[in-house]
Amino acid sequence: MSDPLLHVVLPANQNPLHHMIRTDRETQNGIRAERVGDLHWRCEARADTDHYSYYFHVSLISDADGAGILDIHPDTDRPGAVESFRRHRPDAVWVRSVGAAGIENSAGSAEAEWRRVGVDPDAPDPSVRVRLPLAAGIEHHIARMRPTPYSEILERLQALADRPGVCLTSLGRSSRGREIPLLEIDGGGPSVWVIAGQHSTEFGGVEAALGIAEGLAAGILASGDPGCRCLIAPVVNPDGNVGGHPGCTAEGVDLYRAFTGAVDGQTLGCAEAAALWSALREIPPALVLNMHCYTGCSAAGRYPWEGLYTVSDAAFRSEEARERQRRLDSLMARETGGLSQHGRFSPHAEGSLEHQLAALGIPTVFYEHQDAHGPAHQHRTGLAILRHAQSILDR
Ligand SMILES: [Zn+2]
Repeated sequence: MSDPLLHVVLPANQNPLHHMIRTDRETQNGIRAERVGDLHWRCEARADTDHYSYYFHVSLISDADGAGILDIHPDTDRPGAVESFRRHRPDAVWVRSVGAAGIENSAGSAEAEWRRVGVDPDAPDPSVRVRLPLAAGIEHHIARMRPTPYSEILERLQALADRPGVCLTSLGRSSRGREIPLLEIDGGGPSVWVIAGQHSTEFGGVEAALGIAEGLAAGILASGDPGCRCLIAPVVNPDGNVGGHPGCTAEGVDLYRAFTGAVDGQTLGCAEAAALWSALREIPPALVLNMHCYTGCSAAGRYPWEGLYTVSDAAFRSEEARERQRRLDSLMARETGGLSQHGRFSPHAEGSLEHQLAALGIPTVFYEHQDAHGPAHQHRTGLAILRHAQSILDR
């Protein structure tokens, strides 16, 4: 089935059997892709907004051995995006090298893991230049953030769904008709919601939510930890994930800012926001964890690293709810790396889900994981946030 979000970019003069750049796979994003020399390609990272303009993910395929070069430029349709592209310019990108049928890659298997590859420090500003040794039959996937595609998320949730106490259902459908999966793990106790993927290519947040799902299903929390009824929606913006949208839905909506007026009964125009809000009203949370992800510059720790957001005092309608949020915030500040960014909480936007939940007295944790850390760290951080956050709940 052809998907309107996916675009194949094959220049007419390029023989796809020889050298090729592809941008049409799940989670891929690239426009104006072209071959500019022997084993040298360029493309632009498609922007959603001036800010969400730094994500790219393309594949290179060659039938010759040699030194390949890929140059990624900001989206020329959005001149304002250059500044953000430049500010988020990485020191390293993620690369996964997959062998064609019967051909093994250097890792010795047809399917390799994602690995970090440093970028060329001398690339012309503001582009990103990646140099890779090409070999016949090997396909290199090159990505700005380490991707966790929608289809893989569904498979991983499905693998948990037949365990005792685990149930896989749906929040509803995206604007393009994709199921928004919801995994429930009922360990008894208050309802704790975990959501991720509002900003579709912040895959580290998705991994944190999956880490909670997989950890709870495997009984990983210590036996002394209090149980909860955990409702996990790891990919609330599936169209954005599949289409490689840096920050928005297929309709161009920033799902983080799509909840204005929800608590006062205003109809939400965004399908994904409306589905999530209605599910939250149906199974009211005692606590909501929202997982996002910073793009990560240098492993040496250049800011921003990890991050925490919180709601302004004015958003709460009772002193008790405000106090509980502050208790939760100081717990998160002490027990996580969330303030490694710049030592303080960032304020939530008024259109955020958290702003609406505060009016209902529901405490929230909004955590920015770190892309450069990779999934194992994100899984551990996700579970640690859950363990500490649920200690503030009334039993
Ligand atoms: Zn985000």
